[in-house]
Amino acid sequence: MGNKIYVFGHQKPDTDTITSSIVLANLQRALGNDAVAYKLGNLNKETKYALKTFEVEEPQTLESVDENCDVALVDNNEFSQSVNGIEKANVKMVVDHHKIKFETIEPIFYVAEPVGCTSTIIYKLYRQNDVEIDTPIAGLMLSAIISDTLLFKSPTCTEQDKEIAQKLAKIAGVDINAYGK
Ligand code: MN
Ligand code: MN
Repeated sequence: MGNKIYVFGHQKPDTDTITSSIVLANLQRALGNDAVAYKLGNLNKETKYALKTFEVEEPQTLESVDENCDVALVDNNEFSQSVNGIEKANVKMVVDHHKIKFETIEPIFYVAEPVGCTSTIIYKLYRQNDVEIDTPIAGLMLSAIISDTLLFKSPTCTEQDKEIAQKLAKIAGVDINAYGK
């Protein structure tokens, strides 16, 4: 096991930022890495509801990162939206669906796709790595897709988001339209 990896999204967290942090940290642990999800601010009501529904604990708040600390960014890649100290941290990984405003010194693991939600990308990472998606993980990913795509109505929503949401709903055992409300 290497250094601890701090996994987090953007400031003023939304559901995708929080759930993607949790599910990416979980994937990293399944792959044998020491990874912990954090939040950079208070959760909104929608995100709290999602965590409560699937009985997942809120991540701890991260105030700053130390120099050379290993981090993974989800749902954003802009230092202006990130944590104090990010400029001197080691960004090892980025998983995101926004425009890219990022420069690296070393090669890193960077996954960016023009889809409606970060969790849609992370779902595929679970599949690629043959890591099981259990009920709470599926529920969190589904919550993020519903939230970011405004229940599939946003212009950023793609066929992939819709297809993956259906698969996740089956695993999570929820009715998308009922839960979406
Ligand atoms: Mn976001
Ligand atoms: Mn997002």
